[in-house]
Amino acid sequence: MRRPVARKLTVMATIAALVSIGAAAPPSSASRPATPPEIPPATSPEKTPVAVGYGGAVSSVDADASAVGIEVLRGGGNAVDAAVATAAALGVTEPYSAGIGGGGYFVYYDARARKVHTVDGRETAPLSADAGLFLENGAPIPFGEAVTSGLSVGTPGTAATWGTALDAWGSKPLRTLLKPAERLAKRGFVVDETFRAQTAANQARFADFPASADLFLPGGRLPVVGSTLKNPDLARTYAELGRKGGGALYRGKLAADIVRTVNKPPVDPAADRVVRPGGLAKRDLARYRTLRQAPTKVAYRGLDVYSMAPSSSGGTTVGEALNILESPRIGSGTSDGTPGGTSETAYLHRLIEASRIAFADRGRWVGDPAFASVPTRELLSQKYADSRACLIRDDQALTSPLAPGDPRDPAPCATAGAATPTPYEGQSTTHLTTADKWGNVVSYTLTIEQTGGSGITVPGRGFLLNNELTDFSFAPASPDVPDPNLPGPGKRPRSSMAPTIVLKGGVPVLAVGTPGGATIITTVLQTLTGVIDRGLSLPDAIAAPRVSQRNTPTTSLEPGLYDARSRAELEALGHAFQRTAEIGAATGVQRLPDGRWLAAAEEVRRGGGSARVVRPSP
Ligand code: GLU
Repeated sequence: MRRPVARKLTVMATIAALVSIGAAAPPSSASRPATPPEIPPATSPEKTPVAVGYGGAVSSVDADASAVGIEVLRGGGNAVDAAVATAAALGVTEPYSAGIGGGGYFVYYDARARKVHTVDGRETAPLSADAGLFLENGAPIPFGEAVTSGLSVGTPGTAATWGTALDAWGSKPLRTLLKPAERLAKRGFVVDETFRAQTAANQARFADFPASADLFLPGGRLPVVGSTLKNPDLARTYAELGRKGGGALYRGKLAADIVRTVNKPPVDPAADRVVRPGGLAKRDLARYRTLRQAPTKVAYRGLDVYSMAPSSSGGTTVGEALNILESPRIGSGTSDGTPGGTSETAYLHRLIEASRIAFADRGRWVGDPAFASVPTRELLSQKYADSRACLIRDDQALTSPLAPGDPRDPAPCATAGAATPTPYEGQSTTHLTTADKWGNVVSYTLTIEQTGGSGITVPGRGFLLNNELTDFSFAPASPDVPDPNLPGPGKRPRSSMAPTIVLKGGVPVLAVGTPGGATIITTVLQTLTGVIDRGLSLPDAIAAPRVSQRNTPTTSLEPGLYDARSRAELEALGHAFQRTAEIGAATGVQRLPDGRWLAAAEEVRRGGGSARVVRPSP
């Protein structure tokens, strides 16, 4: 078995020594030493992909961040407190995937009320935006030009998400929860190979923005593996948010700094790069609000699966695919009536087909519901899933692009309108999962879109701005098919993020999520079915080689499946594949029947993740 490589070794003595969440009061002057103590030599928080025990759990991609979350739980914080503190730490150690320059979706199970809540902290387009945001002379601008631009920066939602979640369900002040991340930013973390590789992938564009280069290219070069990367600007920004509250990002000097950076991207005058400015204005930040809409919910094999409703397509697409997989009609289209059986090939075939169909519907029907009529309830109805499942044959693969159906008028095997391909979506983002001793659970996916976001750091503030607006369709994929995901004023671009919590009898048994652009949906779907249908443990379901079909002509396969016998068997059914080195970076928690928490993360992908519990037990 391959072992994960250590990713980020802390330069701190231990996170525990730095985190004083439990001790709310500062030490008395009598006990305070006259001179600050020497910082002892670096030790690394333990980094393992699986942990089992009591008292709560945290799973994230990063050892420092998971350690921060665990210390919050140890200090009496709840799952929401731990999620916010872990996310803030990820803003330091995973700055290319997460941070206050971006947005995300927060799903929360409240153990006392036995209810699932969500916070939609998605970025919004400026009020000045319209459907032509990415058009020039009637044609879409080159995607690469949109990626590194002010044009693609949406109003960030992450600071507001933290504020909303803590106000509603937290037990500690933001100030307290930002402290560990602030210290981490001040003292730095040790660069590992994944961080260096992600920096290398961004080197050319970071070099064109002095504020990004100063921060991420020390001395003008890639950071050396094993060196310490500090971010004192971010430490100061976190301290300011701690003092003033998350709302400070949306008004005053910090908001002005963001707006100025977007309106006039601070590009090196010597750089040979077209950097389009964006139209974000102070009023856009001032009017930003998180949304607390109902989660999506589907019943699947006796469990209730909750996830994120539109503006994310995560909940509706995972939910529709699960409904299709549970449909009594699935497989009824075989030429000789034989069922597909339970082999791995049959499982993968049905998973691919359910996903293909759900993606066809996602493209046609899902966008920001404040701007388009999104038939969320109908997309999640079993009747509709049955009408779509009837397309699946056990002896022959469907071909893509497949046309959508009409969930408002389900008819067996019917399709409605033209087939359109699924557009490109990025591969960045991060997911964290927390649980506490009271049984509360958080599943939280956050992002700045592309790895490295827009590439533009707000000068003096220590964080990268998102390029989330590239998740809009630049133009309709087909002139004949309505596209609910065109840009609009104040609109949220469609997401694929699918932070998910599964309940059994009203109590959480599983929570999971992942980054990976549109592959988020297929990874969450495969992980859920791995546990629920294939009987895998959560760590095994996360480690299993992945498949991803998104209504495109070929299906992506990780090497473990590409090289397996089932590929040939699937090709015999007409499937076409492309080999993909790595899909996603999942984290999750599971409640074991004996009441212990199991935390799980990647063993290998993205350098491996960090799963922790408060009190490990064998
Ligand atoms: N922006 C993407 C979304 O909202 C996520 C990007 C990623 O995971 O790489 O779906």
